[in-house]
Amino acid sequence: MDIFFEVPKDLKITSPSSDKLYDVVIIGAGPAGMTATVYCARKKLDTLLVTKDIGGQVIWTSGIENYMGYQYITGSELSEKFYLQIGQFPISLLKDIDICKLEVLEDKFAVSCGKSKYYSKSIIIASGKRNRELGVSGEKEFLGKGVAYCSVCDAPLFKDKTVAVIGGGNSAMTAAIDLISYVSKLYIINIMDNLQGDEVLLEKIKSSNKVEIILSSEALKINGKDKVEGITVKNRKTSEIREIYLNGVFIEVGLIPNTEFVDKVLSVNDINEIVVDCNCRTSVKGIFACGDVTSILDKQIIIACGEGAKAALSAHRYLLGVK
Ligand SMILES: Cc1cc2nc3c(=O)[nH]c(=O)nc-3n(C[C@H](O)[C@H](O)[C@H](O)COP(=O)(O)OP(=O)(O)OC[C@H]3O[C@@H](n4cnc5c(N)ncnc54)[C@H](O)[C@@H]3O)c2cc1C
Repeated sequence: MDIFFEVPKDLKITSPSSDKLYDVVIIGAGPAGMTATVYCARKKLDTLLVTKDIGGQVIWTSGIENYMGYQYITGSELSEKFYLQIGQFPISLLKDIDICKLEVLEDKFAVSCGKSKYYSKSIIIASGKRNRELGVSGEKEFLGKGVAYCSVCDAPLFKDKTVAVIGGGNSAMTAAIDLISYVSKLYIINIMDNLQGDEVLLEKIKSSNKVEIILSSEALKINGKDKVEGITVKNRKTSEIREIYLNGVFIEVGLIPNTEFVDKVLSVNDINEIVVDCNCRTSVKGIFACGDVTSILDKQIIIACGEGAKAALSAHRYLLGVK
């Protein structure tokens, strides 16, 4: 993804060199990776930031109300501020790169994508998560225009509106509960014959007269012109097609960690998140991980930033040889 704002000329960011042995390579420029970058640069580590995009999941959200210091800021504004902050330091940046391989060599690490390969004494992985997509038409087109993946963040934007949650597990149930207090009507659409969430969550949902649960049904497409206006749903048992008019669709069918490139190198948990200790250390010495890609329970911007700072300080200690 291109940088979506005007970049000032006085930034200190430079292009990388594949001949060099960096002190640290940071993978991912979301909140975790950009915070780690600032901390590494301030420790005067020779730092290379390699990333697919600038901002990560933050650029998918229209409004953020829970990042301290800003009562309200858009995702793109916050990403821009993070980017300008890393640009105050002499770091190397490689953008639009999808790292596909991480190697542990005898005395260094290597990350690569195609023919480009970069070497470092330590690694910080901050590659975050991506949405598990429904894969229906309208989903990508209306992201941020009625299609949302984060109820904690976006529920207040749907005050007095009609909304659907797609999914039937605990995350869908939690999203539904977040939404109930804002919306006028809430559909829960699940492909299975029942909802699989915890009983305590189901009780709360069923006690609300705003909720209509549609089971054994799949969303076929999300409809609209400039923003979401409806959804087409098919009952898998009866094949009946139903058009529902609404303003928002929350897709809660899960997030997937971006960990394909650590396969067989690092320990991951049963949902493929990188297992870290409380100092962001992974199962391999010299490789650290932070933010949503890790096994830490809560996934929020402020937490990812804090974890990014911790990973950088841990990498710095590792490079100094501190036990
Ligand atoms: C729609 C939505 C709204 C949200 N709203 C809020 C909110 O209001 N408040 C809040 O606190 N939290 C919110 N969150 C959660 C928050 O965005 C995440 O917790 C946070 O972005 C995690 O930061 P991260 O840096 O760990 O990962 P990410 O933000 O996922 O960033 C990962 C980075 O790694 C890069 N990357 C991935 N794979 C590779 C690879 N192989 N090679 C190179 N680069 C790679 C990505 O391009 C990206 O730059 C929201 C999430 C979503 C989806």
